[in-house]
Amino acid sequence: MHFHDSMISLVGNTPLLRLNRVTEGLGATVLAKVEYFNPGGSVKDRIALRMIEAAEQSGALRPGGTIVEPTSGNTGVGLAIVAQQKGYKCIFVCPDKVSTDKINVLRAYGAEVVVCPTAVDPEHPDSYYNVSDRLVRETPGAWKPDQYSNPDNPRSHYETTGPELWKQTEGRITHFVAGIGTGGTISGTGRYLKEISDGKVRIIGADPEGSVYSGGSGRPYLVEGVGEDFWPSAYDREVTDEIIAVSDKDSFQMTRRLAREEGLLVGGSCGMAVVAALEAAKTLDPDDVVVVLLPDSGRGYLSKIFNDDWMADYGFLEESGPSESVGDVL
Ligand code: PMP
Repeated sequence: MHFHDSMISLVGNTPLLRLNRVTEGLGATVLAKVEYFNPGGSVKDRIALRMIEAAEQSGALRPGGTIVEPTSGNTGVGLAIVAQQKGYKCIFVCPDKVSTDKINVLRAYGAEVVVCPTAVDPEHPDSYYNVSDRLVRETPGAWKPDQYSNPDNPRSHYETTGPELWKQTEGRITHFVAGIGTGGTISGTGRYLKEISDGKVRIIGADPEGSVYSGGSGRPYLVEGVGEDFWPSAYDREVTDEIIAVSDKDSFQMTRRLAREEGLLVGGSCGMAVVAALEAAKTLDPDDVVVVLLPDSGRGYLSKIFNDDWMADYGFLEESGPSESVGDVL
């Protein structure tokens, strides 16, 4: 009989898929690492598992303990699944701007969700930050993974995503492209690929225009899960060789093309990473193998990126002019 013992053993080992249509005219092979095949639907299942198992080993998380993390998104889902399978409780703290759908997903997995007002200063006792800190202090057996500073976040990618890509491409990968949020994916995967290839694999970050990673001031952008207005310690700046900034419009238009042309219903940060990958691939040869990591599914964005009215309100449906477009391979 062929079966898995628990959802936990389904984490990782995601497939690589060649992009065939959006790459038209390019010489290099562009492969997508499709992370929505993880059981929680995103790349974050990998870090959730690694962070929890490391905390068990160090004694920071004990049987019956409670995981407290300020998150509303993919990390919460990953933590909720692993926690449930291992018998821990979860309390997630999120701001009230988060959609009820996302909150309901976390509750469906059995997590408790505490919603905090967005319209208060970070110093206010009811702020997102203060509430999560207070819950950690007041809850017996509480442990906070803190994905932005936890070394087991990049380590999970060093131990799984990187080796998987080397094996899947039989050592032929020449470029790795990923968006940067906490920086865990690009730092861990990138470091592994650099080490195993004697520095030959080029590591390219994709970043929303306005984010600090590509020299911005933290100005707002709409792509979710990537870009920051501060430098997290999970991000190792030494690993990235190049960072390509991509506009919201180009990111979302590419996200829609991936669904229509490649059958890949993925999130906005995936469209962003693909724009950067195609930009990088423009100057490459047929021997080059570019891998772009696609963090999550498009199901969570149906009322935004895949909604014509929402797209039109922001002017994202119009054709991109060459001056506006960073990745003008569109
Ligand atoms: N895309 C999405 C949708 C995400 O949730 C994240 C994680 N914040 C990323 C990309 C970036 O991954 P990382 O945090 O590993 O840099």
